[in-house]
Amino acid sequence: TPPLLAAEGLRKSYGRTVALDGVSLAVAAGEVVAVMGPSGAGKSTLLHCLAGITRPDAGRVRYQGREMGTMSDAERTVLRRTRFGFVFQFGQLVPELTCLENVALPLRMEKVRRHEAERRATEWLDRLEVTGVSGKRPGEVSGGQAQRVAVARALVTAPQVIFADEPTGALDSLGGERVMRLLTGAARDTGAAVVLVTHEPRVAGYSDREIVVRDGRTPSPAKGTSSAEHL
Ligand code: ADP
Ligand code: ADP
Repeated sequence: TPPLLAAEGLRKSYGRTVALDGVSLAVAAGEVVAVMGPSGAGKSTLLHCLAGITRPDAGRVRYQGREMGTMSDAERTVLRRTRFGFVFQFGQLVPELTCLENVALPLRMEKVRRHEAERRATEWLDRLEVTGVSGKRPGEVSGGQAQRVAVARALVTAPQVIFADEPTGALDSLGGERVMRLLTGAARDTGAAVVLVTHEPRVAGYSDREIVVRDGRTPSPAKGTSSAEHL
């Protein structure tokens, strides 16, 4: 079976800055992959290319065998909304909405009725151990709680891939570990793959496989199998 998500020869420059210089990788269904490397290495750019947010200058991204570059903007948008979930470091919750409304929002955008959307959102808040924050706004809860609400929101649509960019970056180590445990546990239970960008080895420790990006490249790992072999 082909990998769920596969990138081949990705290149991307911003002016004279080469962010990605020929990256290939594959992510299998249900796999948790950590993308590691120093600041400025190209990790976020890689995540954005894989998620169909940024168009690479060269190379291809295939989702379930379909090349994203051949899809229309509308198709890519639907793909992102229905198959992908996103968790970022900060600021992804809508401050004017309650935590419950934030988690229900992706379902409301898919025209799920309010009652059903809120029922499913409540289940996810329970699962992420933040039931108590339902009626509060993001500004009224702790950073760790807000991040667990963000994870609930990323999972509520039952995505096949969760893209997480430094999801624990704003948390202390205990809060970060809790978010990672809940995120990877929920992903395993639902069969979602996770593409996790982090520079923290402890966070990467929750993954099945680590990929190191340096200067826009993925040097071949010294041991084990190269991700390119799955292509
Ligand atoms: P990382 O996530 O590993 O820190 P990034 O992918 O964010 O790395 O950035 C890789 C390189 O590309 C850096 O030199 C960064 O400054 C540059 N870069 C990333 N995004 C942009 C952008 N939108 N405009 C200009 N330069 C960018
Ligand atoms: P930026 O580089 O500033 O992020 P882009 O030039 O990448 O902006 O423009 C983003 C556009 O590229 C969006 O319309 C997006 O849907 C599209 N896009 C994202 N990923 C891909 C892909 N893998 N192949 C082709 N187009 C893509």
